[in-house]
Order: sequence, then C-alpha cells, then structure tokens
Amino acid sequence: MSQSPLHAGFDGIAGLRLALDQRQVSAAELAQSALDAIGRTDTLNAFLHVDADLTLAQARAADARIAAGQAGPLTGVPIAHKDTFVTQGWRTTAGSRMLANYVSPFDATVVEKLLAAGTVSLGKLNCDEFAMGSANENSAFGPVRNPWDQDAVPGGSSGGSAAAVAAGLVPAATGTDTGGSVRQPAALCGVSGIKPTYGAVSRFGIIAYGSSLDQAGPLARSARDVYLMLDAIAGFDAKDATSHDIPDGWLSRDYDASQAAQAAAGARPLEGLRIGLPREYFSDGLDPQVADAIEAALREFEALGARRVDISLPRTELAIPAYYVIAPAEASSNLARYDGVRYGHRAEQFTDLNDMISRSRAEGFGTETQRRILLGTYVLSHGYYDAYYLQAQRLRRLIAEDFQKALREECDVILGPVSPQAARRIGENSDDPRADWLSDIYTLGVNLAGLPSVAIPCGFDTTRAKPLPVGMQLIGNHFQDGRLLAIAERYQQVTDWHQRKPESL
Ligand code: GLN
Repeated sequence: MSQSPLHAGFDGIAGLRLALDQRQVSAAELAQSALDAIGRTDTLNAFLHVDADLTLAQARAADARIAAGQAGPLTGVPIAHKDTFVTQGWRTTAGSRMLANYVSPFDATVVEKLLAAGTVSLGKLNCDEFAMGSANENSAFGPVRNPWDQDAVPGGSSGGSAAAVAAGLVPAATGTDTGGSVRQPAALCGVSGIKPTYGAVSRFGIIAYGSSLDQAGPLARSARDVYLMLDAIAGFDAKDATSHDIPDGWLSRDYDASQAAQAAAGARPLEGLRIGLPREYFSDGLDPQVADAIEAALREFEALGARRVDISLPRTELAIPAYYVIAPAEASSNLARYDGVRYGHRAEQFTDLNDMISRSRAEGFGTETQRRILLGTYVLSHGYYDAYYLQAQRLRRLIAEDFQKALREECDVILGPVSPQAARRIGENSDDPRADWLSDIYTLGVNLAGLPSVAIPCGFDTTRAKPLPVGMQLIGNHFQDGRLLAIAERYQQVTDWHQRKPESL
C-alpha cells in the first residue's frame, strides 16, 4: 500500500491535481497504481467490478485534457462509484444477486457529471443489497471489511466507498444516504462525507431504495475534497422529478461566502456561530468514547469562536419507527419492478407466470431485502395503511418541525454523533437484525427532514482490539451544504483526525 502514489504524500485532491499539472505523475499512472493497490487489498472486498481497460481509457482522456490545458479541479483524479449508480460498461448489481449480471445502457447523472469533470473511475464499490443495511453485511457478494480492523464492519450501506477511501485506494468515492449510508460508514472508517439537502443531487440512474429519502453524496478524506466532489455533482436535473430547481452555483456561493466570513473574523473565524447540541443525542446509549470525542471537538469549535447552545429534538427516538415504516414502504414499491421479466434474475424452473415471478424474487433477493419488502407491503395494505404508514408520515412532519424550530430559533448548526458506537465486529448482530436498525438513531431524522449533514472524523475509540475511528455530524438547514462544509473544513485546519491512516492492511 505504501507505494501507492495516493499514499505518497499528495495533499488530497488539490495535491493530486498539482502533481498532474506539473507532470510529476500522469492520470494513467495514477489509475494503474490504484488498480494495482486494489488487487493487493482484495481482502477488504471493497470493489465488486474492476475493468482496467475502461479505467485506463478514461485516464488517457484525462491526460489529453491536461495536455491541452483544459483540466478542471477533478481532471485525472481517480474515484469509484457505489454499486447503486448505474454505469455503462461496468456491471451494476446494487449488491444483489437479482442484478448480478446487469449492465446499464446509460450512466446515472452523477456518473455522467463526474466523467465530464474528468475523473477516472476505478469501478464499482460493494454495498448492502439495495442500500439496506448499516454494516455492509447484507451484500450478496460478501461483507466489506474495515481497513482499521479487518474483523470490524466498515458501516453501511456505502461500506465499500468508505473502506476504499480509508484504505487510500481512491481519494474520493460516491455513496448514497437514505437513512445514514454516507455518514455512518464515513464515521466508522474515519473519513468525511456529506448527505446533501434532498433535491440537491440528481437521483436519475441511482437504483431506488426509498425515493423520498435517497440522496447521493460523496465520501473523501477531507471536507475540502467532499466539497470539490459535491460541487461537480450537485445541480438541477430535468430527468429527476424531485431535483430542486435552484440556480447553478448555489453551493459554491454559500461555501465561498462562509469562507470569506471566516477569514474576515480573524483569530476567531467561527465567532458567533451557535452550535446546537440536542439533549436527546447525548443520553443513554451513546458510548462514552464517542461522547468524549464529540465533547473535545466542541471545545475546538469554541476555541474558534463558536458558542454551544443546548437544544432539544424531542422526537428523536420516533425517527426509528417512522423511518422503518416509510423506507420499507417505498422500497416495496420500488423493488416491485424486479419480476424476472424485463431484467434481473429469472428462475430457471417454474410452472406458470406467477410461479416464475415469485421464484425469481425468492432466489434473487436476500433475507434483509425480503424482510423490508414484506414489512413495506404490510404497512401499505388495506386496513394497516392508516395505522402505520399514515401515522409514520405524521411523525415525519413533526420530526422535520423539531429540526426547523431548532435551526430557525435556537442555533445555526446542530452537532451530534453519527453512530452510538465505533464499528462493531463482523457477525456480531447476525441474530438480531433490529439491533442495527436502532443504531441508526442519530442519522435517520436528517433524511426524514431532507436536511444536509456533514460527517467528519473526530477521534478514536481506544478501548477496542485496535483503535477505531469515531465521527460526528454537523446538520444545517436546507441548502446550507456549502456552509456546513466550510465549517467542517475549518475544524480540519486545526485538527488532524482526517489525516490519520490505518497502519497496515
Ligand atoms: N441503515 C439504514 C437502512 O438500512 C439506512 C441505509 C441507507 O442510508 N441507505 O435503511
């Protein structure tokens, strides 16, 4: 690993770009060395599909752009995509047997935009089946391992994305976050990531899980690199009916204005920033190692001029039942399309059409996916709809109102943990799938409310077999994604958690 140029001291994406512009390295060399590193670290099981020819063709195109003096901020930078983004050429499985051989005839908008920016894709990253999970153990292609301790989970569902960035295989990767799937694996692997405002990034070409919750977001080492990636993928897309028609440049304007205000404030760049700490996020159930790391981060923010405000998000616990009704309901509808007829797995033996569909689905979907489909179908069915689905929608509105009250009246941003504890062992919760559902408590509300949230590393749990990263999240109001990233970047200028790397793989 240590020979990889990605690990050889280039300072994030900006450092790689400089090295490319100064011809210290070519995009093709970077891509080849990353492909070699992926081969050496296959015990992580982070990649599902690598195709050197496709990657090197993109790298040569990037080199041509650099030679022509037409490079942008991401040209020649190696990245990889969570396997929920459809890609021409590379298979797209969403971690499911159902789609084991599926190759899309088109690229997702996010994939298309990153290609247009000149990034070089190294392939497709492992994830929980249809993005359902919090540990990356639900992939039909085996679990992903955490680069900090290979007996630990990387988090999920974007576990391959977080592991690949943490292991230094790529400086950045795409992920999706329906209830925490960018932030939680980022936290458990010690990298940075954002769940953008709902509607900020196109969902076109992303394999749907819970359509009213799903958002694509990048993972990278630093908040700065997350910003560069988000700036490339955010924006209105007519192909996604839920894409927000906000003028281009909203993200950079917000980010630049926040940075300018910080610079003008001098020695206390975050002077006046009110950071809300929800009482309910720091109660029983939060591991003391995580609480201590966040408390230390808060002191850093205070030294930068920020002020702590105690707030309440009284319906925090109700996010779990609300989410685990709404997300499966939407999933049961989204996954109805996998019927073995148009695409996806088809059973070989069957008696008639109904039997073909039910056998294909029984064979193609894994246990957790089947559980969610059953749950979702149940809560949507006649007689239960009012009791469960409608009730969950009411809760969703109340949860969103709690956030609005806090962010309008009491504080500018909300700070909290991402996960109640550092990464657990692989297999630890296999008897009780709902244990993982409960660990989503701090992330789900953000998706129910459509808010942006940035997760960054802030310490380690040193009580484990090997030190494991701890993360925190900063939640803001709609379309304050740039401001959140600028605050996270300021924190990373005075701390070095995001620069720590796992020692050996
Ligand atoms: N853990 C949550 C779930 O399983 C969130 C997953 C996600 O954000 N895709 O639904």
